[in-house]
Amino acid sequence: MKKTVILLSGGIDSTVAAWKLRREDHTLIPVTFITYRRNKRELEAVEKIVENAGGYGLRVIDTSYLRELVDFPPKQASKILQHLSNPPNILIPYRNIIFYSIAAHIACYEDAEYVAGGHTYEDLGRLPDVGEDFFNSLRALLNQSLKGFEVKFLTPLTALKKPQVIKLGYELNAPLKLTWSCWSVYEKHCGTCPGCLARKQSFKDAGVEDSTEYLA
Ligand SMILES: [Zn+2]
Repeated sequence: MKKTVILLSGGIDSTVAAWKLRREDHTLIPVTFITYRRNKRELEAVEKIVENAGGYGLRVIDTSYLRELVDFPPKQASKILQHLSNPPNILIPYRNIIFYSIAAHIACYEDAEYVAGGHTYEDLGRLPDVGEDFFNSLRALLNQSLKGFEVKFLTPLTALKKPQVIKLGYELNAPLKLTWSCWSVYEKHCGTCPGCLARKQSFKDAGVEDSTEYLA
């Protein structure tokens, strides 16, 4: 039996990653992080998705101090942004080194062999802390920090672009409808924000019916 801590955001990618691992007989330990001003609909989505998966106990980790760059002092934010050619919409400085270290702690407690995240091919071009180099370095650092336990990182979607991720999710019968991409906190997806527009386009590109209920 493969035991795996999976980081869930409530979005499409981490949900599909979870369903792929379930198909490969991983027993999942779902973890999600509360960050500063995190959209509450995302957390609700994680809860629904975990319930849909059969009710693995969800670990909700309070890291509410951690802020996105938009919530940084403008001077500090622009200092960091000028080093990124294709910055992502959401960037929390040092996010993954923090999230994956906490997940490794949980893996150690649970005696889980793996920690997994739903990073996609597009993420590799946008973020320095999702690729093979990053995870090899983090693994080495964790091994140096603690003897007697070793964690391995899995990123099962990094070969796939977003439409391929959606296609795979559809094939795996992942609950794509329950995932949340909207930047607003309405009951339903607004349909007009950048998150919703990208979601609509990705389903179109994937050739998969979009069963999301949009307000517009
Ligand atoms: Zn929206």
